[in-house]
Amino acid sequence: MSTKAIGRLSELRTEALVCTACRLSEGRTQVVFGDGNPEADVVFVGEAPGQHEDEQGVPFVGRSGQLLDQLLGEIGLERADVYIANVVKCRPPSNRDPRPDEIEACKGYLSEQLQLIDPRVVVTLGNFSSKLLLKTETGITRLRGTAYEWWGRHLVPTFHPAAALRGSAKVLEDMRCDFGLVRDAIDGNLVGSRCHRANRACCGPETTRPVRPLK
Ligand code: URA
Repeated sequence: MSTKAIGRLSELRTEALVCTACRLSEGRTQVVFGDGNPEADVVFVGEAPGQHEDEQGVPFVGRSGQLLDQLLGEIGLERADVYIANVVKCRPPSNRDPRPDEIEACKGYLSEQLQLIDPRVVVTLGNFSSKLLLKTETGITRLRGTAYEWWGRHLVPTFHPAAALRGSAKVLEDMRCDFGLVRDAIDGNLVGSRCHRANRACCGPETTRPVRPLK
């Protein structure tokens, strides 16, 4: 990452910390801009800060974060290796879903974070980030299991860790499969247009699909 890009990311954080572009600014304790290695090969994108994140100003520090750390560990990564951000940077009241106008008001921050960090792999956690970045109404259950070509990188959509915490063992199993794709993408092992290891039973033999860009 160039010195200029590092400077701009820091400037963007400073701008976000005083942002009042939507109603979520009224109820927040802290803005949760993003955290991790700005030189990372992989950026994870969640939905919105929860209570713990709002208190600490850091993404994924609650139970979902613990599961994320575990899944990262299983593919040989730790937090210091990745960057983590959210679709909206302020906690929605009572952890409700972010509203379309709030996402619209906030999406410029995420867009610029991704452009500056310029990762090889983007991992979207759950419906909100997956639908936003892939510009689709298709839900995460159908989107996941495939790595998509996205702005010259790989985008791997998977469930939000909260879904695995409240869902069945199958959700966690599917997330492990998707994290395997992340590992393959990092290692340059997504061969041709085939995104799946031939013998990976949990995912079908789908191919990558070119998708339209964020802007
Ligand atoms: N869930 C998210 O989507 N993001 C966080 O930062 C924490 C929980």
